[in-house]
Amino acid sequence: MNKINKYGLIVVGGGITGLSSGLTWAQYHDVKKEPVLIIEKEPKSGGYVTSYERQGYLFDTCQMIPNITELLEFFDIDIELKEYKGYYMRIFLVDIKTNKVKTIDLPSGFEDFKNELMEKYPKNAAEIENFLDYSRALYLELFKLKLDPNLIEILKMLLTCPKIVKNSRRTFKDYFAQFNITEPDVIEIFTIFAEFSGLPADRVSAPVPVSAMNSLLDGAFRPKGGFIEFPKKFEEKYLSLGGELMLNTKVNKILVENGEVKGVKLEDGSEIYSDLVVTTVDPIVAMKEMVGLDIIRELDKKYADKVENVKMSTSSMNISIGLDNEIDLGALGLDCGYSVITTGGDIYDRLFDDMIQGKIGYTDEEFRLGVICPSLTTGGKPNIALRIVPMGIDDWAELREKDPQRYNEKKQKWADFFIEKTEKYLIPDLRKHIKVLDVSTPATYARYSGSPSGAIYDMAPYPDNFGRTRLKMRTPVKGLFQPKFIHSVFATLLAGMQVNDMILNRKIMDGNARYKA
Ligand SMILES: Cc1cc2nc3c(=O)[nH]c(=O)nc-3n(C[C@H](O)[C@H](O)[C@H](O)COP(=O)(O)OP(=O)(O)OC[C@H]3O[C@@H](n4cnc5c(N)ncnc54)[C@H](O)[C@@H]3O)c2cc1C
Repeated sequence: MNKINKYGLIVVGGGITGLSSGLTWAQYHDVKKEPVLIIEKEPKSGGYVTSYERQGYLFDTCQMIPNITELLEFFDIDIELKEYKGYYMRIFLVDIKTNKVKTIDLPSGFEDFKNELMEKYPKNAAEIENFLDYSRALYLELFKLKLDPNLIEILKMLLTCPKIVKNSRRTFKDYFAQFNITEPDVIEIFTIFAEFSGLPADRVSAPVPVSAMNSLLDGAFRPKGGFIEFPKKFEEKYLSLGGELMLNTKVNKILVENGEVKGVKLEDGSEIYSDLVVTTVDPIVAMKEMVGLDIIRELDKKYADKVENVKMSTSSMNISIGLDNEIDLGALGLDCGYSVITTGGDIYDRLFDDMIQGKIGYTDEEFRLGVICPSLTTGGKPNIALRIVPMGIDDWAELREKDPQRYNEKKQKWADFFIEKTEKYLIPDLRKHIKVLDVSTPATYARYSGSPSGAIYDMAPYPDNFGRTRLKMRTPVKGLFQPKFIHSVFATLLAGMQVNDMILNRKIMDGNARYKA
């Protein structure tokens, strides 16, 4: 049992949102007087952001981050990052009829990217320029957004953020259509950006892909020591400032009395108290199971209705492959942030629709996967990861629990499928070089995050589930916050700062959604 029984702040979950929430608190308080505690159910912090070892191979969960220098400076943390120069993403467009593959390289840097696209697709040069310049201006407006605006600020934002106001209820597909781009390759490129949100282009709120694209064009990076560097360095810093961390400890309940948060109840039945609690776990689980929807409904019916209608993002399958030393991954052009093998067109829409219906829609004619090569950055034994998105939870969790043999067969079947596609279209003789195979399924993600759907990207950014329509960070329970509304290492680092800014009446970021030093 912990020594202190009343904290200044309790954080539920020690992923990146939890670590950044706890660390920001520790930076702004005398923790001897106002102690902070992060409670994490797993034996280590980091949540989805981690690296793990299998038979001498270092595998990573994540693959790419934008420029986060300002945030790292804010936290006073140094993480050695490699920046992808040249191209940071490659698309391998498979024509299934001819089996031919067209490669499209995406150069780093906004101007280089723009110039190359305009040069390569002269028929659409003006339209591409218009689209990219407008999208850049929209992206820059994000820095003028307030997170929890008052009425005057809302009115002001109509003038300072007109492009966001105009487009946030639009899907990316509708937004993109305004620019009349007709070149199929260019449509393919921007559709793939949209899909990084986990949603198809015709369902995602337009500012999400616009922001992801622009931030990655300002620089795409990967930690040299693997993604584990993030939780490791954040945890070290947090502990050095006097923050407390309880590992292997599950929170079962968030205690509420008369509309105010009082603390948490752990799995072992003990209680720890605080007038401020930040929950960083699946928001449906937090509100329905940990607080109780009846309590929320009594305080704010609209918020409770929103909880009932929250849509979580897709899950994923990750196939990490350790290879022998004979293979030259660099020569295959794999030293970039992300490669996508796809049959193109509206493939993601169809796979997504199948997923919604509980089916896995990948076939020999229609497939799409990401290929990443961590070892060219982290060193060590050569390895690659195949990222399969979308993939729903369907019966994965049930099989894992009740029928391990069928679970393993299903895992192997799909691993073989995607390995075969990678071998055929990107890495010749791949299978001959495989030494170690480690497959994560939606059941793996559900187990680690505690999110029953195994959602990997938090709440899905549909126009009615994002921005001003999202489930708000400030909950109806006084003192209870949930800084969860968009995925990524960058966004989760920011979320921890935002929630402290809210608690401290805008002392840190002046109520802005984005941090500017
Ligand atoms: C395979 C994969 C690849 C990704 N790739 C990228 C990428 O390349 N770039 C990028 O920017 N982002 C990427 N992301 C997204 C990014 O990892 C997430 O957005 C981010 O890590 C979410 O952090 P979080 O702290 O909000 O949530 P989580 O990481 O889910 O952390 C929540 C924590 O809460 C703990 N917890 C849950 N329930 C309880 C409980 N009852 N009591 C105590 N603790 C509890 C969990 O154990 C977990 O540690 C990827 C995600 C996945 C899954």
